[in-house]
This record gives sequence, C-alpha cells and structure tokens, in this order.
Amino acid sequence: MLVIITPRFSYSHNRRKLLFIAILGLLSIVYLGLEQTDPLVYALHLTPISLTLAVLYEGMLPGIATWAAFCIGGIFIMHNDPLTTLLSSVVLFASGLLCHYKLETVSQLRMSLRFFALVFIHLTIFTTISLLQGGSFEFRTLALIGAANLLSSLFINYIYFHVKHQERFQQELIMSEKYQMIGHLAASISHEIRNPLTTTRGFLQLMGKEDLDRVTLDRYRKYAFEGVDLASTIITDYLNFSKPNEEKSQLLDVQIEIDGIIPWLQPYSALSNIEIDIQHLSREKLLILGESKKLQQCLLNVMKNAIESMPDGGKLTVQTQLAQNSVHIIIRDTGAGMDKSQVKRLGKPYFTTKENGTGLGLMVVMSMIKTMDGKIMFRSKPNEGTICELHFKRVELQ
Ligand code: ADP
Ligand code: MG
Repeated sequence: MLVIITPRFSYSHNRRKLLFIAILGLLSIVYLGLEQTDPLVYALHLTPISLTLAVLYEGMLPGIATWAAFCIGGIFIMHNDPLTTLLSSVVLFASGLLCHYKLETVSQLRMSLRFFALVFIHLTIFTTISLLQGGSFEFRTLALIGAANLLSSLFINYIYFHVKHQERFQQELIMSEKYQMIGHLAASISHEIRNPLTTTRGFLQLMGKEDLDRVTLDRYRKYAFEGVDLASTIITDYLNFSKPNEEKSQLLDVQIEIDGIIPWLQPYSALSNIEIDIQHLSREKLLILGESKKLQQCLLNVMKNAIESMPDGGKLTVQTQLAQNSVHIIIRDTGAGMDKSQVKRLGKPYFTTKENGTGLGLMVVMSMIKTMDGKIMFRSKPNEGTICELHFKRVELQ
C-alpha cells in the first residue's frame, strides 16, 4: 500500500516513513483481528517478507517499526519461540539495513535476488535454531514456504520497481516542464530587451552628431535613459511573469499611450523611410483597464513587425476609435503581408520568417493582451499589407 500511495501523496522522506508506520499499524490490527494464520507461515513467510521490504527499501525507522510489530505478533499472538523469533529477525534486520545503506539499488532482477537472499537467511536461522531446540519440520511444508517466498520476492520487487519507475517518470516530467518554461522565459526576455536597447543605441548614435543643439541633445539623452529604464522594467516584469499582478491594473488613456510610444519607433521607421500616420478618430477619451508598460510593449511589438514588413518604405497607420462599448486600436501597414497559413501560425512560439527573428514577440503580445481581457486579430494578404486590430473593453467614468 505504501509503495502505491506514496508517489501520489508525498515525495518527502519523513512523511513517507510516517505513512509507512501508520499503514503497518492499521493493517496489523486488521490482520491479527480477522485472519487465522498458521504460526509457521507467520514466522517463515509473513515476517521475513514484510521485514525485508521495510528494511531494504525504506530503511531504519520503518524497519524498526515492522520488526517490533512482527516480534510482538510472533511471540505473544502466534506463540512462536521468543529466542528463535528474536534472533532470526534481528539478523535479517541487521543485514537488510546494511544492504539498504551500503549497497546501491540495482536492476529489478538483482534486487529480487538480494531480497530473496535476505528472506532465505531468516528462514535458515529460524529453522536451524528450531531444529537445535528439538523441533521438527515437514520437508513438504518447508519447500512450499520457500517457493512462496521466492514468488513473493519476485512479485513485490516487480510492483516496487514499477511504481518507482512511475514516480521517477512523474518527477522528470515536472522537472522538464520547469526547464522548458525557464527556456521560454529566457528567450522572451532577451527578445523583449533587444527592442529598447536597439532604440537606446540609436539615440546614443544620434547624440554623436556634431551640429546638435542643446535641446535636441537633451531630448535624445532623455529617450536613451527611457530605453534603459524600459529594459530594466521588462526584466522585472518577466520575473513576475509567473504571478501576474492584477492589482497593478490602472486606467489607461489609449490615445496618450500610443502618442507616448511613437518616438520609440522613429529610429526604426526612419531607417526604411516609413511614414507614420496617427489618427485618433474619437473625440471622447478612450479609457481601458490595463498596465501601461504591458500595453506599450504590445503595441511596440506589433508596430515593429509592421515596420519590418516594409523594408523598402511604406506607410504605417495607427487608428484609435470607439465601437459600441469597446476601444479599437487598428494598426495597418503596406508591407509584405502574409498568406493564410502564416496568419494562422501567428503567436505560436518560434514562428518567424526573419533571419534574425525569434518568433516570440507575438506569443508574448497575445498572452499579455489576454491578461488585459483584450482581443487581437490579424488580416493580411501577400504583397498588400497587414491589418492588426486590438479590441479592449471601454471603461466609462461616471
Ligand atoms: P519575429 O518578429 O521575431 O519574427 P513575431 O512573433 O513578432 O516574431 O512575428 C512572427 C512572424 O509573423 C514574423 O516573422 C512575420 O513573418 C510575421 N508577421 C508579424 N507581423 C507581420 C506584419 N505586420 N506583416 C508581415 N508579417 C508579419
Ligand atoms: Mg517581432
């Protein structure tokens, strides 16, 4: 029972040992109360098999508990000879303990043999002492008990290894899932940090120009600082990724958020001669609930993709509008576009068509939009361009 229950309930050694003792106590009471057992079968089969299992696989504490239980049962209930019972079980206990702590767990077959050898030692000592004290055994009974012991040893080891295997398998599965998550996390962090770092680098480069006035220089410096700050925030955010923080949600004015990230895009758009057109089509304030950094990160990713799809120039249009009770952000480009199968794969980890792409940008975007209760949709045609729509629930102030 322990072998079957333990993997589900506890991987901790101490809890496992206590559970063993509890099960043993319970079964002993039930067994001794209900079952009529031949004292010889008790002494030569039940005792050595149970004691070997406990001491060989579970060690000292469960071993002592089992030893005590079977000695008490053997001597006081079965009325077996105290000296014979004690001597044989102590030798079995000691050699089993030695095997447990000194020898490594080997293959199933060799463990079965080791198991049977311990049982056999007990059997030999018990019968020898009994014979020396003038007792007698029928050869048939002894042969039967020996055969039963061998079968039990094989059976118990089979179950033990089977369950152990499952247990190890489960643990490995948990570990490999953890490693996979860490891998994903590391890849996304480096991907996200590259954006602000590239921008910062661009501004630092611009600061090197000679004929810059003081105001422009200060502006560039400010953007460069903001880039470094954003990178550091992203790291913090990703470290908190596993425990998304709902409380940090605040009211965001979509129009302000979008205007705030346009300067970030300029180093990219200027490079490929792209015109950026911002159209706020609603006169009312468009408020949504979310985290500013996350929303900006999402918009930045989508717009960067749009810009990257237009290496030979084009137009990036960003519209905000109110549609019934939701706020729509529509990002349009006149770039390379995608076919249907590509649109389907958007947001799948590692889907990228770029030489230096990571294919993680949209995966992160989609999971963030989801945490903000928003929706994201793409429409695209090859060589015509792409439209990305973001929908959020509008928050109305009373
Ligand atoms: P990455 O930009 O690193 O490739 P993303 O997850 O941001 O990863 O994008 C995945 C892929 O989706 C891109 O490689 C590109 O093929 C396609 N894609 C995304 N946005 C657009 C767009 N606006 N126009 C054309 N293709 C796009
Ligand atoms: Mg991208």
